[in-house]
Amino acid sequence: MKIAVLGTGMVGQALAGRLAGLGHEVTVGTRDVAATMARTEPDSMGNSPYPSWVQAHPAVKLATFAQATAAAELIVNATSGDVSLAVLEAAGRENLAGKVLLDIANPLDFSRGFPPSLFVKDTDSLGEQIQAAFPELKVVKSLNTMNAFLMVDPTQLAGGEHSVFVSGDDAEAKKTVTALLESFGHTDVIDLGDISTARGTEMLLPVWLRVYGALDTPMFQFKIVR
Ligand code: NAP
Repeated sequence: MKIAVLGTGMVGQALAGRLAGLGHEVTVGTRDVAATMARTEPDSMGNSPYPSWVQAHPAVKLATFAQATAAAELIVNATSGDVSLAVLEAAGRENLAGKVLLDIANPLDFSRGFPPSLFVKDTDSLGEQIQAAFPELKVVKSLNTMNAFLMVDPTQLAGGEHSVFVSGDDAEAKKTVTALLESFGHTDVIDLGDISTARGTEMLLPVWLRVYGALDTPMFQFKIVR
């Protein structure tokens, strides 16, 4: 499949690398290709700059948000939650029409430091805001409840025996995303229902952040036992 991964951070890199490894044709989207390729410093989380990462993943292309989405059959949103709507606007509505958007972004507000709060919650969600602003997209919220490394290789923990959620209005789009998740190694994909159920998974983030604080590692996961 031709896939656009919007985002050059650790989530964009993790998804792009794994999807390319599975044989998909992947283009990463960024604001300014030249500026991104001129980066030499690690990001604020200590992840290597994009040019170093891409050296190890030569099959992955880099383009503007609009160029990446124009050619794509499926789009991944791996951008900072507070800019996701602006990024999709920059991608161009004509490039989004009828496409599945796997939305991994969380509505984190770092304005008061760490841990961040949520800038939308409880009665609304970022997933819903994206779906409302871009009705031409088929938004499926998923993977936002775990660390980037576990998103693309769940077997790194407990043999992959943990849970991932999908939320979205379009049943076919959820099937497409579920097949991708299973190709990564996820075995317990729980369909929560329509896109409003993204409120629940986005509101897991305050819990995720406290567990991270207590365990001092991002390598843990939610498992729904039943
Ligand atoms: P991030 O730092 O949150 O976002 C990086 C991307 O945001 C870059 O592509 C950057 O564009 C874009 N961006 C930043 N400011 C922008 C602006 N003003 N206008 C347009 N684009 C802008 O990256 P991340 O840590 O990989 O996280 C991506 C998303 O996944 C976030 O929503 C995060 O909450 C969510 N998430 C992360 C993890 C994790 O393990 N890190 C886990 C679950 C969910 P450029 O490429 O042009 O710089």
